[in-house]
Amino acid sequence: MEITYPFARVFADSTNRLSAFFCHDARHNSFQPIGDIGNGLVDFCELDFAPALEQTKALATMEVTSANAEEMKSVCWAAVDLFKGQHAYAHFFLNSDLVRNFYASNRSLPEQADYAHFLFRYYAGLQALYREALELCLSTEVLPEYTLPERFVMFANRHPDIQNQMLRTMYAVAPIRRGQFHAEQLISFDDPATVDVRKVLDGLHRDSENAVSLHPYFAVQSLEEMLHLELMEAVKRGIRVKRCGLCDRYFALTDKRRRNYCDRLYDGKHTCKQIGAKQKFSQSVEDDSFLQEFQRVYNRMYSRYYREDASVSDGGTKKLSAEEFKTWTTAASELRRAYLRKEISGEELLSSISVDAGAKE
Ligand SMILES: [Zn+2]
Repeated sequence: MEITYPFARVFADSTNRLSAFFCHDARHNSFQPIGDIGNGLVDFCELDFAPALEQTKALATMEVTSANAEEMKSVCWAAVDLFKGQHAYAHFFLNSDLVRNFYASNRSLPEQADYAHFLFRYYAGLQALYREALELCLSTEVLPEYTLPERFVMFANRHPDIQNQMLRTMYAVAPIRRGQFHAEQLISFDDPATVDVRKVLDGLHRDSENAVSLHPYFAVQSLEEMLHLELMEAVKRGIRVKRCGLCDRYFALTDKRRRNYCDRLYDGKHTCKQIGAKQKFSQSVEDDSFLQEFQRVYNRMYSRYYREDASVSDGGTKKLSAEEFKTWTTAASELRRAYLRKEISGEELLSSISVDAGAKE
């Protein structure tokens, strides 16, 4: 299981954040605080893969020879650049996979085109898995009759690959004090020969509890590994996700504070949190009887989808297929957003989803 560049060294410490070094090659790396654990998963699920899939469609039928190999690569680079600035690590890992595919694999040119074509489709497909993970393992609003451990086991049983996923760990001297990564102690240099090693180590170890501040890190080579790492750390730490009371999108709750709004920009200038703080009445699910009823209907639909695991109380209804469930949730989320924007009333919200649900009690 050899590691090849590019890859990332990811440190998990006692804070609910991950610290990563994106190692581009043997001489170049960049430090990247990835942010609150959980939000990387939420943001991945929200990425729009459609434009990248459209751009790479041509790869499936392209006859790649050495004459047009560069053209194939530029199609891929353009597609991967669509994710630039959109996601803290998705761009890095997708880009890395392509670099390895083109420059560090034994694949022939047509195989490289096939693999690149597959790659974008594969990750677009992984969104469904991680959307399910958000709802089943990290949200407490869905299927509340199950405990989180029960829900995690349910999820793992549905996806045996999750249980078999391996991650590689290595050791490195790193500035970690009292369980926390200290990014300000990092030094950057262009030429290792110019670094005063004794001074650097002295600074790094001054407050260390250990003789040598040696710590394990994850050597992460693909987006798949990174998503797995973040999910496992989120589950392990008991991090929850919740829907924002304004934009209705999920966000991670990384501390014990009660929060109803996310930090995304809502109107181009202010975040949901800033606008939410000014609103007189909190629109959280707990305080809104229409949203409570919405969640009850949502959970009933969810149970019908997961019938194999769930004991469902509404006897006569049939199990929903994945496709039916997706169609229903897409429509229901849109209605819920319209309600939060005050475009429809609570009564309208409930009557619309009940018609769609088909089985009103
Ligand atoms: Zn929001």
